[in-house]
Amino acid sequence: MALIVQKFGGTSVADIDKIKNVAQKIINVKKAGNQVVVVLSAMAGETDRLIGLAHKAADSPDEREYDSLISTGEQVTVTLLAIVLNAMGYSARSFLGFQVKILTDKAYKKARISLIHTDAIKKELKKGTIIIVAGFQGVDKDNNITTLGRGGSDTSAVALAAALKADQCDIYTDVDGVYTTDPNVCNKARRLDKISYDEMLEMAMTGAKVLQPRSVEMAKKYDVPVYVKSTFTDKGGTLVTKEDKDMEREIISGVTYDRDQVKITIVHVPDKPGVAADIFSPLSEKNIFVDMIIQNASLEGYTDLTFTVSKKDLKDAQKIVESTAKKVGAKKVEVDDQVAKISIIGVGMASHSGVAAKMFKTLAKEGVNIMMISTSEIKISCIIQRKYTELAVMALHDAFNLEKKK
Ligand code: ASP
Ligand code: MG
Repeated sequence: MALIVQKFGGTSVADIDKIKNVAQKIINVKKAGNQVVVVLSAMAGETDRLIGLAHKAADSPDEREYDSLISTGEQVTVTLLAIVLNAMGYSARSFLGFQVKILTDKAYKKARISLIHTDAIKKELKKGTIIIVAGFQGVDKDNNITTLGRGGSDTSAVALAAALKADQCDIYTDVDGVYTTDPNVCNKARRLDKISYDEMLEMAMTGAKVLQPRSVEMAKKYDVPVYVKSTFTDKGGTLVTKEDKDMEREIISGVTYDRDQVKITIVHVPDKPGVAADIFSPLSEKNIFVDMIIQNASLEGYTDLTFTVSKKDLKDAQKIVESTAKKVGAKKVEVDDQVAKISIIGVGMASHSGVAAKMFKTLAKEGVNIMMISTSEIKISCIIQRKYTELAVMALHDAFNLEKKK
């Protein structure tokens, strides 16, 4: 008997018929003799709707109440699924984060799971009950409800799989796996049968929406095999797993893009020790994630500092940066909100030369200007003008021959 965690995303539970379809999938796994723990998202669009309400209610809603509010979408889906399963003659029970006890830190909107109590779930599993856990939510040590960041139910599922030492974690979504790039942008995109944790993590961090980055981090840390599958077809699927030493190391496995980027430049900053710390500390104190950073070579004691943040953080970031710019004696702050980040990812690039050059040449051939570059061992990212996103994705997908399996 295996213990299987199955997570279903928002489009899979968008209405009662779809919830009934999910129930059938769960029953199939249960009938095959497995123990099942299900994790659900809210109905598609519901979390956005709740966030909209909160912002209608106040410009900057109280964070404690905000998290409590936006976690309610999952309460609806888990209870409905339990009702459906019970009516079909299967014993099923829903659990909210605090009922399991999924303990988190106190960082509202982006809480991290610190501990999962498994006693309550294990007791019910032993009785043959199907367990249905609300994704995306937890509770801090003072009993405040917290949420794990957008897309956080993936992380709930992987964390539960790790805590319960599950044999498998299946993430059901509306696509049938992880692709070489977004099939909506490039019709030559190819589904990958397998991808390493490291590559998946880079893909998720650079814009692939299929898994929340934290869920991949967690899967890697606890060695949880994750299958990305479609709720609507039995075909396909991608296994996210440890890098297979015998596996041919693809130079490039995928091309990703992220349109959710804005570029901020602080012009004419005095070039002396402590300035970067002065600029970035107040941002991190406000939990604003700074992605790419470049500092130009210094000219007569002054330099320009450019970095990117997520669009949603622009207003806050700009306010903070304008005040620090004044404090450190910089000339001005410039914002470009028409940029995108385009990345290529592959474990093989660590041992191949010329990959970056090929990327830059490909973009140049299309007349796409590169504004910023950052690299890691298995990733190269460029900031470009947003209007060239699709063009760049298609050109890079072709240039690295991703359509065909080599
Ligand atoms: N419902 C949450 C969201 O929309 C969590 C999730 O779907 O994973 O972000
Ligand atoms: Mg998701």
